[in-house]
Formats: sequence, structure tokens, C-alpha cells
Amino acid sequence: MTTDYKYELVGCFGDPVRENPTGIMQEAAFAQAGLPWRYELLEVTPDALPDAVRGAKALGFKGFNCTIPHKVAVIPLLDAVAPDAALIGAVNTVRREGNRWIGENTDGKGFMRGLREMRDPKGARVVVLGAGGAARAITVELALAGAGPITVVNRGGWRGEDLVRHLNEKAGANAGFHQWVSTVGIGSDVDILINATSIGLYPDVGAMPDVALDGARNDLLVCDVIPNPPVTPLIRAAQARGMKTITGLPMLVYQGAIGYEMWTGMSAPVDAMKKALETAFGVSA
Ligand code: NDP
Repeated sequence: MTTDYKYELVGCFGDPVRENPTGIMQEAAFAQAGLPWRYELLEVTPDALPDAVRGAKALGFKGFNCTIPHKVAVIPLLDAVAPDAALIGAVNTVRREGNRWIGENTDGKGFMRGLREMRDPKGARVVVLGAGGAARAITVELALAGAGPITVVNRGGWRGEDLVRHLNEKAGANAGFHQWVSTVGIGSDVDILINATSIGLYPDVGAMPDVALDGARNDLLVCDVIPNPPVTPLIRAAQARGMKTITGLPMLVYQGAIGYEMWTGMSAPVDAMKKALETAFGVSA
């Protein structure tokens, strides 16, 4: 064992293929900043997670991402969890503070950074499609930023009701639930519509959430979390009506940028990270 590391390391525990875009961005950022760091993709089985977390500390890792299936299971293995990540109930980024592992969630924060470039979330009336991990991270951050009312629309009733109860009881939200059984009309009392489902994700690229935009305001802000492909049928439908849109790429870039900032203590070279993603996806972020 040597302490003379050639590289500083951060890692990704989970299924490497799913987190590849993050690896592409982080390595581009390290190169741009002249840091001799590597972002390694490491497949870790659930039974090996405790050893992997201990091993990363022993090997001097600066931090790591964790993806499905480790985002919840990693929590009891950490020394502390940031308050918003605790509210979300999932950790996707772990940073080192001395010899302690601190759990963070940068998904919702990344979405919010992209949103704030377009508008102030405070007081915004929001409809969120979906009640899974992405919806949970986004709605917790929206609630903490003072957005509301927040309407969660989900196909599965139990999951949606559980999220709304959690938002109201723990995150101080003004949230309500609508079960998604038929076309959801977006009215003129909605400022922001967010697709936080997996509808439209590759290979199902023609799929469009069952929503009607006829009654919506012309200045409705339509956001989609789908990063691949970023221009989804929902984004296209909104753009055809002249509405403002945010694709899944800013969320992806900014969740990585926030992780970079947590690990390095430096501001992220966001342009280099965007460019790496644009090249990877062949589109504009
Ligand atoms: P989950 O599996 O936790 O949740 C999926 C959600 O989508 C559930 O609410 C589910 O509803 C809903 N859903 C799926 N298919 C349908 C359908 N045909 N009709 C109606 N609802 C449907 O996934 P995640 O929340 O983790 O991820 C969701 C998406 O977010 C993924 O596509 C992922 O790529 C993207 N994402 C993007 C990020 C970015 O940086 N841009 C970051 C994280 C995620 P139900 O409960 O009824 O099953």
C-alpha cells in the first residue's frame, strides 16, 4: 500500500453505463482545470456496498456518486447527510470532510440552478408529472425555495400521495395530488410544468406525457428531466406554442457541476462540462 497517489479519485458506485454522462463531464472538468484527477466508474453489487464505502475512504477518494440501486442503501453507511438530501431520502453524491463521508443530493439542486436561470421559483405555481426519485428531489428543492402550490400528478396513487404528504409535513410545502388516469389539462393558473417521469427516455423517444396545453398560458415554462434525447415530444410541443422550455441537459450538467464544486472546493468549468455533453449527445445544452 502506498500513499503516493498518481491520481486523486472520485468514483461512481452503481451501474457504470447509467452514469457515463457524468463521467464524461467530470473528466472534461478536471482536464480543463488542470487537475490530475480521475472519475472512475465502478460497478458495486449491493452486498459489497459497505466494503466499497470503507474502501474508498481508505484509498483516499475525494468522494463518489452513487446511482441505482445504492442511493438509499448508502445513507446508513455515511457519517452525516445534508438536510435536503435527508428530506429527499436519497444520496447521489458523497463528499469528504476530513475523514467523514457527507451525503448530498445534487439532482434537485441541479434542476434548480437551471430553473433559476429562467425565473425565480419563489411563489411559482407548479405541476410536476411523476413521483419517483427525480420528482422527489425536485419537489423538495422547490418547496424549500418557496414555490407553491405544487401539484404532483402521478399514475400510481400510493406513490403520489406519499410524496405529497411528505412535502407538506416535512418540507413546509403547499402540495396537492392528482391521480393521472386521463389527459391532464394544464390551466392558466400554472406557471411551471415539469415532466419528472421517464416518459420520452431513449429508446421510447416518441412518447409524450398525456397532458393538454390548450388552456395553458403562453408564457408557461415547460421543463423536462429527460436527458437522452433532450428534445422530447413535450419540449417540441411547448416550443411549437412559443412557450419557454428547459430540457434535461441543464439539470444533468448542473448536478455534475455542484458535485465538482463539493469535491474540489472550486467553481466548476461549466462551459467545458456542457461542451463535453454536447459532443456526447450531439446536441446543444
Ligand atoms: P423512477 O423509476 O423513480 O420514477 C419514474 C416515474 O415515472 C414514476 O412517477 C412513474 O409513475 C412515472 N412513469 C414512468 N412511466 C410512466 C408512464 N408510461 N406513464 C405515466 N407515468 C410513468 O425514476 P426516476 O425518478 O429516478 O427517473 C425519472 C426520469 O428522470 C428518468 O428518465 C431519468 O433519466 C431522469 N433523470 C434525469 C436527471 C437529469 O439530470 N436530467 C437526473 C435524474 C433522473 P408510477 O409511480 O405510476 O410508476
